[in-house]
Amino acid sequence: MGHIYDIVFSPGSGLSHVFLSTHGKFGMNTEAGGSRKCKAVFLDRDGVINRKLPENNYVKSYQEFELLPGVRTAMSIFSRLGYLLVVVTNQRGIARGLMDEDSLNCVHDYMKRQLLEHGIVLDGVYHCPHDRDEGCNCRKPQPGMILEACRHFDIDLDQSYLVGDSDSDMAAALNAGVRAIRISTNNDVNAYLTFQSLLDFAHHLQEVERQLDKTSHGDSNEQSRRSE
Ligand SMILES: [Mg+2]
Ligand SMILES: [Zn+2]
Repeated sequence: MGHIYDIVFSPGSGLSHVFLSTHGKFGMNTEAGGSRKCKAVFLDRDGVINRKLPENNYVKSYQEFELLPGVRTAMSIFSRLGYLLVVVTNQRGIARGLMDEDSLNCVHDYMKRQLLEHGIVLDGVYHCPHDRDEGCNCRKPQPGMILEACRHFDIDLDQSYLVGDSDSDMAAALNAGVRAIRISTNNDVNAYLTFQSLLDFAHHLQEVERQLDKTSHGDSNEQSRRSE
């Protein structure tokens, strides 16, 4: 199974405001039945968060990692709307010996730092290091990484989305049972919705949530009354 990176809450540290804002995402989806499951935006990495390299090239060092325009704004919007941010990425360059776990960790540390500078905390980063023929259950289109995150964070897939730029992302979403958002300039009939960029989807989701808010004035005071 892929590697998981966890954020540890440290309210006493100088970054407490960042971590507390993440903490606020947990248990925001209070339903009538009292369920407190989380909602999440699952994010493919290459082509969604950072610029994709040409076919069969892998981001092996942070110098090759370039955030796409609007990604930070988009992630801030998702966070503000109460969504966990969970990256799920296939990295078969590891199986092919083109990079190792350490260099991938360096790339991901760089990604997290670049986002944290803007107050964005990734809740989880999962990767599959296996090759196509290894028969693992984490490499997309398999749903393993999504399902593991679901168990770890108690995520409600019905309230969540997976954003990707490839057919295997769409298939993984289908296999996991979560709505698939395709980032593409062409409409994808297999996707729930298609957008040209992550930011376009974030603006759409913002509008959807605004409409939901209007129709259901949930008891927003409820969670502040929760006992500590
Ligand atoms: Mg991709
Ligand atoms: Zn795998």
